[in-house]
Amino acid sequence: MDVELLQTLLANPAAAREQLQERIAADPQLAMFAQMMNLRAEPEPEPAPAPRPARSRRDDRIARVRDRVAEMRDELVRLRARTTRLAAALGACGRCWGDDTSCATCGGQGIAGWLDPDPLAFHELVAPAVSRLADRTDDTDHEEQP
Ligand SMILES: [Zn+2]
Repeated sequence: MDVELLQTLLANPAAAREQLQERIAADPQLAMFAQMMNLRAEPEPEPAPAPRPARSRRDDRIARVRDRVAEMRDELVRLRARTTRLAAALGACGRCWGDDTSCATCGGQGIAGWLDPDPLAFHELVAPAVSRLADRTDDTDHEEQP
């Protein structure tokens, strides 16, 4: 093998293979040597990448549990935010709503009205319900009067 062929082989294996095939075709002695060395005219196909191992049932279960935990965590965050906002609207302790005598915020005193209600939260969350209740009471009052 001459230096030029060796350099081509190193720089561009595909071109070198082609060049080598031409030389083998033109030289019976080289062809016999190539046959002995098991050189083929066609390059061997690239081996297919090993298939990824299928996820086991255990892996699937773990993935489902992780998804469910993430959903529950998201829901908990949303519910805590909603509860805290409603507590502010009612002037209640956002940590315990007055249920926990060991609460560091209210000492168990934080029922609705414990603090001044947050006016914006009150108008958003409570006022519509109070208004509706007042409307029902008005209707009931009219029905009772002759
Ligand atoms: Zn509290």
